[in-house]
Amino acid sequence: MYVDAAIIGAGIVGTSCAFFLTRAGLKVALIERGGIAGGTSGSGEGNILVSDKVPGPELELARAGRALWQTLAQELSADFEFEPKGGIVVAENDSQYRALQAHNLAMREVGIETRILSTAELYELEPLLARDVAGAAYFPQDAQVQPMLAVAALVKHAQQDGAILFDHTRVLAIERNKQGAICGLRTEQGSLTTPMIINAAGPWSAQVAALAGLDVPIQPRKGHIVVTEPLPLLVRHKVYEATYFDTVNSGEADLQIASVVEGTKSGTILLGSSRQLVGFDPTVEARVIRAIIQKAVRYFPVLASAHALRAYVGFRPFSPDHLPLIGEVTQAPGFYLNTGHEGAGIGLGPISGKLLSQLILGQTPDLDLTPFQPMRFKDGTVTHSL
Ligand SMILES: Cc1cc2nc3c(=O)[nH]c(=O)nc-3n(C[C@H](O)[C@H](O)[C@H](O)COP(=O)(O)OP(=O)(O)OC[C@H]3O[C@@H](n4cnc5c(N)ncnc54)[C@H](O)[C@@H]3O)c2cc1C
Repeated sequence: MYVDAAIIGAGIVGTSCAFFLTRAGLKVALIERGGIAGGTSGSGEGNILVSDKVPGPELELARAGRALWQTLAQELSADFEFEPKGGIVVAENDSQYRALQAHNLAMREVGIETRILSTAELYELEPLLARDVAGAAYFPQDAQVQPMLAVAALVKHAQQDGAILFDHTRVLAIERNKQGAICGLRTEQGSLTTPMIINAAGPWSAQVAALAGLDVPIQPRKGHIVVTEPLPLLVRHKVYEATYFDTVNSGEADLQIASVVEGTKSGTILLGSSRQLVGFDPTVEARVIRAIIQKAVRYFPVLASAHALRAYVGFRPFSPDHLPLIGEVTQAPGFYLNTGHEGAGIGLGPISGKLLSQLILGQTPDLDLTPFQPMRFKDGTVTHSL
């Protein structure tokens, strides 16, 4: 079978690519070795955050991504629990509070809506938050979706526009011609002829790139989540501690934990979050779960009597400079990357899919993709290892 484009990975990024490319009239195959959203997109939270970025290219991507989610929530005929609920960042002590004030100012200067909260405002917004925090900032643009429902909605629309979904189908080989250009791929179910492959395999992007003889510098960054039993409304916003900025932006391999607490429409409360560079180790670690719960109870003492339903791990696609890789690999014409969104792929997935589609279609992308181009690493990655 011939397709104009084959997309590997049906997480939020691959399904967004499929959505925009099929809408533009391309014949697209979406290939997923498991079920849709069976990778990282089904094992994280669904925050769409601007608050945790710093002024620069990722913030611009996040701002455009937030606006696109709003549009999708209105346009797609599916409920994926889009909630523009806002985020609250809490400082534990005076030095964190000073850093938060500086962040707040820097974000306001580039047009992000945010304000430092007075004590009265803070407890009006989050009545059950611990009384002994040093201060807090509010970011009303932060929002939330249910990622699996969002992926399902994008897949459904892409299929209605003609995308062919091959789920439970692993890509085994990628074929390139004598000039190095993409010419097809082989799966467990058979072969496809195509001049274009989009590697949207999230934390497995390096393994998929290796099938084309390419090295891509993506590693899995492990994260744990604890899910409580369904509870009445206790937490109204996404609430996270100010040290979260440091853990997001650090490249530390060792365990880092910063508290993130948020309710969901179903009543469960999601407690996070940890970061570790330990490969694809699927172990749910008791010490991490304990630390996440302790921190959550420190900020929301009412949670001390709640029961945890379950805990699980997922793997964020970590890129060396914390920016995603979006664009074509020049040594392998027709091989595109859309990966490396780390802990922000739900927020950034649809906009990344839209921008890459614009690039592929020969249009000027709505945002300058230069900071995200895959060939930017000067130590040779992405490299040609054929
Ligand atoms: C604990 C945790 C919390 C998070 N919280 C948030 C959050 O609140 N907000 C946010 O924006 N982001 C969050 N993230 C990050 C976000 O989930 C990811 O950035 C995003 O899901 C990545 O999407 P993706 O489509 O690139 O990858 P994935 O969803 O992993 O999709 C890649 C797919 O490729 C498939 N695949 C791999 N190899 C092959 C092959 N050979 N053949 C066929 N298919 C293949 C996999 O099965 C997988 O389904 C969190 C992540 C974790 C782990």
